[in-house]
Amino acid sequence: MPAVGRAIMAKILVCVAWPYASGPRHLGHACSTFIPADVFARYHRMRGDEVLMVGGSDMHGTPTTVRADEEGVTPKEVADRFHALHTKNIEQLGVRYDLYWNTAAEDHKKWVQDIFLSLRDQGNVYEATMTSPYCTTGNHFLPDRYVEGKCPNCGFERARGDQCDNCGHLWDPFELVDPHCRIHGTPPVPRETKHFFFRLSAFEEPLKKWMASGKERWRNHVVTFTQSWLREGLRDRPVTRDLDWGIEVPVPGYETKRIYVWFEAVMGYLTATKEWFKLHGKPEGWKDFWYDPEAKHVYFVGKDNIVFHTIMWPAILMAYDPKLDLPADVPATQYLNISSERMSTGHGHGVWLSDLLERFDPDQIRYYATVTMPEAKDTDFTWEDFAQRNNSELLAVYGNFVHRALTFADKNFAHEVPPAGFLDAADKAMVRAIEDQWKKVGQNLEYIHFKDAIKEAIQLARLGNQYFDQKAPWDLVRKDRAACGTVLHVSLRVARSLALVLAPFLPFSSQRLWNALGYDTDIHAQRWEEALEDVPAGQRLRVGKPLFAKIELEAAGPAAPDAGFDVRIARILEVKDHPNADKLYVLTVDYGAGTRDIVSGIKNDYAPDQLRGRTIAYLLNLQPARLRGVESRGMLLAGEDEKVVGLVLPPDDAKVGTQILGVAGAPELPFAEFQKYKLRVGEEGRVYFLGKAEEVRIPLKAGDAYLKVDKGLKEGTWVH
Ligand SMILES: [Zn+2]
Ligand SMILES: [Zn+2]
Repeated sequence: MPAVGRAIMAKILVCVAWPYASGPRHLGHACSTFIPADVFARYHRMRGDEVLMVGGSDMHGTPTTVRADEEGVTPKEVADRFHALHTKNIEQLGVRYDLYWNTAAEDHKKWVQDIFLSLRDQGNVYEATMTSPYCTTGNHFLPDRYVEGKCPNCGFERARGDQCDNCGHLWDPFELVDPHCRIHGTPPVPRETKHFFFRLSAFEEPLKKWMASGKERWRNHVVTFTQSWLREGLRDRPVTRDLDWGIEVPVPGYETKRIYVWFEAVMGYLTATKEWFKLHGKPEGWKDFWYDPEAKHVYFVGKDNIVFHTIMWPAILMAYDPKLDLPADVPATQYLNISSERMSTGHGHGVWLSDLLERFDPDQIRYYATVTMPEAKDTDFTWEDFAQRNNSELLAVYGNFVHRALTFADKNFAHEVPPAGFLDAADKAMVRAIEDQWKKVGQNLEYIHFKDAIKEAIQLARLGNQYFDQKAPWDLVRKDRAACGTVLHVSLRVARSLALVLAPFLPFSSQRLWNALGYDTDIHAQRWEEALEDVPAGQRLRVGKPLFAKIELEAAGPAAPDAGFDVRIARILEVKDHPNADKLYVLTVDYGAGTRDIVSGIKNDYAPDQLRGRTIAYLLNLQPARLRGVESRGMLLAGEDEKVVGLVLPPDDAKVGTQILGVAGAPELPFAEFQKYKLRVGEEGRVYFLGKAEEVRIPLKAGDAYLKVDKGLKEGTWVH
């Protein structure tokens, strides 16, 4: 019984955008790539389709080299560390890739070089001289992210040399307003350098033709964005760059250059398919997926990646071999905002997946990611919303319904599924609702509408609750035991269907529910159609804990007095005099995920040499302010009495970046709001955080050691 009139098995390649191995991933990333791809793949596996889901970490992006420069380690060290973290987080989140690979793998490199050479032989990759930004302060070329400046399109201040993170527009570095070297801060000069270019311009017409047909089901914003790009006209693009990190250019004379990451990472969808088949002893098997015109390739990417998947990659495929399959759909998401600023790993602002996974059930994260998924427009993340959707929907509607049905049957019917007797109109309506909702969930999943799909699944649980309340089995059990058994039977049948239709979304809790209903099998090996089947009478129940825990805001977010803060250990890198104020310094601090400038009034109390290299307690999420013409971002914590100012000092061995108060990615805090909270010196110079009404008293600690205030400030002194 196919959901949307499609009975034949399909071949589906699920392609997931390659996350940079340059930092932890945030919830926005999971919402746009991992989770939708996984839901889609799980659903199609249940439908019996032949699914292959591939992707991996992008090891070669400049975010990785930028971070390595900041940390003083090799790019490989950074890439390996974050590839391992991504791999772990993906597994914890229940995202089931067939192959989670990485672009530093030897086979990937080799196959990319093959494609490169083949494109060069055809003339679609050619050599030319270009002008690149060069930093004369540090004597280095400045590939993409090494240049920052103001976006001419949207005015975003920290646009990169290749792309604006805010509006997604692609740039040449010299098109930015006031471009400067990210490391040295000085403006670059143009310098000539030889590179290979991809003849993208030659594919403008073929791409226009391709976009003009069969895109009716694509998301509107993806089509609009792509078409506006095509209207602007396509220019050839460099495919090599001056950098020593990445895949070697297999041409003599190019030893100091590497293949550009935009060019090689997208090839990963093809190389990862090849690798999977190679690992499974069928080295030619990939062709079944790439040369079958009926195979569907679906690409899960974020908004800033659209153009690479609807223009660049299709053009490369057309050039390399016109018989290869082009994307069938690119259901890109918009952004998930946190306090309206986009969560971005590059700027140390986000709700990190690794943090969330430590604190919450993965299905709670997956549920929220799905119901709030920015499918058509940007959406906002708030902790309140996260807790509320969990408590009032996942727990109160779904978790509550199945728990009521299970525990009631368990208690009153000898731990077994009672038999169904005569079905009255209400019982029959409930059974019909299973099929109705199942159809709606399937239809929405076919059309890649995840939000609506999960809503229809939860609606089935809502109907289940109504049915349960209406039938009131707690009364019925005394009046008409057989009728009560029927109600429980039907309710458990609904629970069984819920486990199956929610399995693509909530894999862990679905398995738990499946087991509680008495099944020993792997729910993920079941077929989608089985959601319509009945639960066998007499099957032994194994009722455990409720499926979901309540999320208390104290544990989740700003309702907790300290969670509105993001205080970390930072190191002072540079101390300069404020250009317009005698009593102020401008300090450059490294907070572990980046560097920032802060303006600070401690000039009378600390000489520059007492500050350089020192670790401090740094409030990261203070709203930026201009102080006498210099932008200050965040502040250091210090105690102050009438005479002196004393820094709050971490223990000697504290690591830069360690969270000491609140949560990473807490929303921006206006200064007036910050002032309502109090920090105070306690016994032995320890520093305590107090709530607005001093209702809590939390010592500031790094690991097991307390942070203390400098200069022997007395107990009771205020810290700010
Ligand atoms: Zn420089
Ligand atoms: Zn912009």
